[in-house]
Amino acid sequence: MDQVSAGPTSEPTSDPTADPAPGGPSLDERLQAFVGQSTGPPLQAPDPVNQPMIRHWVEATGDHNPVYVDDAAAREAGFAGVIAPPTMLQAWIMRGLRLSQEVDSARARGDLRGASPTDQLMAMLDEAGFTSVVATNCDQHYVRPLVPGDLLKCTSVIDAVSPEKATGLGTGHFLTTRIEYSDQNDEPVATMRFRILKFKPRPPAGGASPAPAAAGPDAAAERPGRPKRPRPALTQDNRFFFEGAKEHKLLIQRCSECGTLRHPPRPSCAHCRSFEWDTLTASGRGTVYSFVVNHYPQVPAFDYPLVVALVELEEGTRLVANVDGIAPEDVAIGMPVVAGFEAFDDDLTLPVFHPDPGGAAATDETRTS
Ligand SMILES: [Zn+2]
Repeated sequence: MDQVSAGPTSEPTSDPTADPAPGGPSLDERLQAFVGQSTGPPLQAPDPVNQPMIRHWVEATGDHNPVYVDDAAAREAGFAGVIAPPTMLQAWIMRGLRLSQEVDSARARGDLRGASPTDQLMAMLDEAGFTSVVATNCDQHYVRPLVPGDLLKCTSVIDAVSPEKATGLGTGHFLTTRIEYSDQNDEPVATMRFRILKFKPRPPAGGASPAPAAAGPDAAAERPGRPKRPRPALTQDNRFFFEGAKEHKLLIQRCSECGTLRHPPRPSCAHCRSFEWDTLTASGRGTVYSFVVNHYPQVPAFDYPLVVALVELEEGTRLVANVDGIAPEDVAIGMPVVAGFEAFDDDLTLPVFHPDPGGAAATDETRTS
């Protein structure tokens, strides 16, 4: 049958998880159909806002603000009594580990009975190969502080589904969910926009073979079209480090007031609180304080296995860097290393450490002194 005379009897049947027939709705169109849909019935918090959970939270996060645990301090600050940390918002509603695992295993079995639109959307993306997920943004807006006794519920709506985007992790779709929280009187207390990236993990470096063993240290070298290494997020505090690396200098931030060295770079001195700083050029010698050998997941900008080490410099600060020039199985804690510099592209040069045969290995004695 030619294209012009294709009649109604030749129309494809619609199965949202099947590959769309030519002329059928594209994946993007099918994804957009979810926008504005409620993700299911309102969720009810299992417990009211309560002091024990607040106490565990502030101890776990190291938040010493007394308004969360001390009525008198809270009243002094203008509240009627203790308030919950605003960022606990989600904690009051979460469905818990057991229920989450049940949902995950149902999805893994392809069982979508009773699945919410979000579950269906996730399943559709899984089916299309976008099997990995990473949370990217969470914006919360608070209407009023939550206090012990508040009993929350929330409703959520699929707010946006992006077209396919290329990201450092792989191509994917950003999904934004808008969640509205209300109290026992149905008064709004907060809203949250939660964005995730549902993406296609890149195939292992070196080719389409899914077997990680196929990608040895040389498999990905000099691959044409190889993507650049991820860019560091430059700030006025850390820019010096990367500019120094371009000039093959390993710089350590130093407090101008008390001389304390610090890394990673940050605005103020933890010792004396001064914001004044300059830098010291490190010798580049150090020892492997700890390390991991990364085999998977593989990002095409890197060669695998990839040795990621925490190097303790002889000046005393530690930094995370790759170790090269040695078989990954031969890397050892305490091993002396020395910094070299590798230009990964025109914009990015980083210190990369190599074994230092002339260096002094760290021993337990030097470590604990
Ligand atoms: Zn200082």
